[in-house]
Amino acid sequence: MEYDVVIGLEIHVQLKTRTKMFTAAPYAYGADPNTLIDPVVLGLPGTLPVLNHAAVEACAKLGLLLACEIAEVCKWDRKNYFYPDSPKNYQLTQNEQPLCLGGQVEIELPGTSRNIQGEHRLVKLNRIHLEEDPGKLTHTAFDTTIDFNRAGVPLAEIVTEPDLHSSEEAVAFLNALIHLIHYAGVSDCDMEKGQLRCDANVSLKPAGSKTLGTRTEMKNLNSISNVRAAIEYEIARQTELLDAGESITQETRRWSAENGTSSSLRSKEEAHDYRYFPDPDLMPVRMDRARVAELQAALPERPYDKQRRYQETLDLPFTLTSVLCPDPKLCTFFEEALELHPAPKVIANYIANDLLRELSASAAHGESALSISDCPLTPAHIAELAKLIENGVITKQIAKEVFTTMYQSGNMPAVIVEKEGLQQSDNSDEIEALCREAIAGNAKAVAQFKEGNAKALNALKGPVMKATKGQANPATLDQILRSLIQSEA
Ligand code: ADP
Ligand code: MG
Repeated sequence: MEYDVVIGLEIHVQLKTRTKMFTAAPYAYGADPNTLIDPVVLGLPGTLPVLNHAAVEACAKLGLLLACEIAEVCKWDRKNYFYPDSPKNYQLTQNEQPLCLGGQVEIELPGTSRNIQGEHRLVKLNRIHLEEDPGKLTHTAFDTTIDFNRAGVPLAEIVTEPDLHSSEEAVAFLNALIHLIHYAGVSDCDMEKGQLRCDANVSLKPAGSKTLGTRTEMKNLNSISNVRAAIEYEIARQTELLDAGESITQETRRWSAENGTSSSLRSKEEAHDYRYFPDPDLMPVRMDRARVAELQAALPERPYDKQRRYQETLDLPFTLTSVLCPDPKLCTFFEEALELHPAPKVIANYIANDLLRELSASAAHGESALSISDCPLTPAHIAELAKLIENGVITKQIAKEVFTTMYQSGNMPAVIVEKEGLQQSDNSDEIEALCREAIAGNAKAVAQFKEGNAKALNALKGPVMKATKGQANPATLDQILRSLIQSEA
């Protein structure tokens, strides 16, 4: 039997605000346990929540970038449950009236190879709501410890429609979503630090059927590869059950990355009744339309729109745009350099290849790879290097050398070229003398060239470039060699 796969994702994103969702306690990753807390976080009697407007704005900004509608009014509900990660015995969330409604994310399906652009399509969102993170429990063989540092940290929960159809699409969605969140600047999405967590709902239905099948929900997916593996495991598990004539139980399952399998956590019958009700301590939030319009007007260009613009108007190849466009900081760096010198391909190449290679090389020395924000070079360095190449001051070969020196020293390329005398040589007398030597020393290459093998000329250029340390003007060299060989004939 053939089945259609149906997947819906729920993604929790930690919003990068200075303080927590309903109190002034700060949040920082890696602080000593229970040091970033206050009476509100601990739910002590007599405390009252105070809304963090920065969290609401961050979520609205993200919602607008994800093409959601921003609600006129959103409100806060209590999700009641009894578990030690929540000292209040309820979580503040938005159940009935979330901040962001609908929305969509453009995704790129995998191309036939890494260097080939895949097809794009839109994935529908259901909503984005705000809620507070619970505390963190750590279970060992002997006891369970509780850290409330994370309790009360603002989360945006993005809920998709059941609009994804394979593990590849789910991964493409998450990647596109992470790029958009980076563009919105509202979270770093570091999955290792728990800044982005994903639950995956999976069901199968007979191919072509309009009715959705029974779904299961996978929790605890803390990396993209776990999302992929958990979905694939679940598709295989459900296929086997349905093929055997059995039915799927609606349940929550826990993925174990160690075993590469999932197991049932609780079935629908055992599901909690959260007894949602509006929080009596918090006012509903009326979203100021003028402010929403301001946020809308200030939105950045979306990553795939930028990529299309780079490809169409700057004529950059996909291999370069696919490196630059996911990272808004790289794009800003690129655009600043471009403003100083309009040579898109050369500049994009230096950023996407040479610069990123140097930045990630720092990872080899045991440190983590540097990001563009820690880069010792400015856009002006790259722009000036491109200009030196284009104006024929240095050859492309020498430019690679200048790049390494400027990355290490931070000096401007023109200064390095001047100081080290790396200017391209247009001294045709010197080049001609070296060409004559090369011709005399390689009769075979000369003969091959005369027989029509244009590449044979490279064998003659090599020694000249070597003798001039890469500084001979390639165009002058080419011209002189050709005319010398021709006059010989
Ligand atoms: P609940 O109210 O139980 O949380 P929702 O309707 O909010 O359920 O859906 C939660 C997630 O599950 C959403 O991402 C949604 O797209 C997805 N989903 C719902 N039904 C299915 C289904 N039959 N198959 C796969 N995913 C589904
Ligand atoms: Mg739901």
